[in-house]
Amino acid sequence: PEIDLTDLLNTIAEEYQTQAKEKSLIFTFDLPTQPVTLSAEPNLLSQAVKNLLTNAYKYTPAGGKVQLRLFTRSRQALIIVEDSGIGIPEADLAHIFERFYRVDSERSRNTGGFGLGLAIVKQIIEAHGGKITVSSKLKQGSTFTIQLPL
Ligand code: ATP
Ligand code: MG
Repeated sequence: PEIDLTDLLNTIAEEYQTQAKEKSLIFTFDLPTQPVTLSAEPNLLSQAVKNLLTNAYKYTPAGGKVQLRLFTRSRQALIIVEDSGIGIPEADLAHIFERFYRVDSERSRNTGGFGLGLAIVKQIIEAHGGKITVSSKLKQGSTFTIQLPL
């Protein structure tokens, strides 16, 4: 169906705003004032964005920042989830979208998870004709970008 991404992300942002306080994180979101409509499965897209935000919260220490942004550029919607967390080692970046892949370090012992969240994001986004990319710097943070055709 036709859905409004602005509306969908606003709902998600409200939910994560509440959680941010509990985790002592600074959550900000920057969404367009206009609707951004596209044909998509709202529950799946919502799941994809939540998986990214859940990771951002999980891998960012208290006091850190998480930001959600949406904008459109050359017939694409860009959804960006950026955090100031622990970051991902360069050597792992190519693998994090694989099923059951978790960065092998202290983080895996301290945080639960199966290593499925990002594999699910990738599958959902590709099913919508889009793509997901990441850039990250160890100990500085990570930025995940979802691109969806409009
Ligand atoms: P699950 O999502 O299944 O509960 P998970 O969070 O470990 O478990 P993914 O979401 O697929 O699995 O992420 C894979 C790995 O990538 C994580 O284990 C973590 O090491 C790393 N990672 C993902 N997102 C971030 C992030 N925002 N900052 C730092 N590392 C991340
Ligand atoms: Mg995860």
